[in-house]
Amino acid sequence: MTDVVSDEEIASEAARQISLETGLPFHAAKVSVDGFAGWRVGYQAQVEEGLGFDLLLAIGFRSVEVTMRPTRFSGPLVRAFAANVAADPRGWIDQLARVRSAGATVTVYADHEVLSSNAELPDLEYRTLEIECVVRTVGRGIEARRDAALAACRAAVSLTLSGLELQATEMIEDLSEGAVVRVDVNKYERNPVARMQCIAHYGSRCWACDLSFADTYGDLGAGYIHVHHRVLVSSYEGETYVVDPIRDLVPLCPNCHMMIHRRRPPLEPSELRRILDLPEKQPLPSISTESA
Ligand SMILES: [Zn+2]
Ligand SMILES: [Zn+2]
Repeated sequence: MTDVVSDEEIASEAARQISLETGLPFHAAKVSVDGFAGWRVGYQAQVEEGLGFDLLLAIGFRSVEVTMRPTRFSGPLVRAFAANVAADPRGWIDQLARVRSAGATVTVYADHEVLSSNAELPDLEYRTLEIECVVRTVGRGIEARRDAALAACRAAVSLTLSGLELQATEMIEDLSEGAVVRVDVNKYERNPVARMQCIAHYGSRCWACDLSFADTYGDLGAGYIHVHHRVLVSSYEGETYVVDPIRDLVPLCPNCHMMIHRRRPPLEPSELRRILDLPEKQPLPSISTESA
């Protein structure tokens, strides 16, 4: 058994981090439901009732298991999930593959039955849904358990939210209110899953000017960052475009984000870095569609 105090720390830290990365409010709490007693990271939908879910954390020394369970009266969550996944099976299968390649072992239960293949979910009718993600702990100590817990939470949140089409409303207001330059924030910049996966990869420092809000504002600024979508979706005309959070998105501070959008098409972050006279760094992945 791991001690309760560090489990609480791990759950609180994961909730805080996932909130920052997705732009949606997650909270940690102690929970005792249906045979599970421990810590959870929960999302309570504020706009629409019935879309809340809990991530139940089982934090061991060798692995962390995170199970997404809709909160009570979350029939709407299961229905919304089923409808979205049926409408866009490719998006779901793509997300499963992404989460698995990041190292999570995923088991999906629909009506308490284990689904055996990736493609199985889209056509099923089901009334209950659980998504279990297990991530092995690399190394020892609380740091290792914290990393595994965060990775398992990210996996479960990615899979759950990718079926819910939630948007991080905070980010929209943030960009439109009081902004002198109006920025066209597209849906990829507001997509909580894409945002989370981008920040999980690049961190929350501005890619163009290296600003970290945590360095400047301390706790108040911790994790604060915009996410910019580098791709002109019109260049994908004819094909279905699926956002790749690492290839297509990049974290930028609001100033750099505004500056990039003062040109049409927007500047590349590397061009802005040159304007800022900062040393070149490892280039971002190529987004050109010509070579494809
Ligand atoms: Zn910047
Ligand atoms: Zn942008």
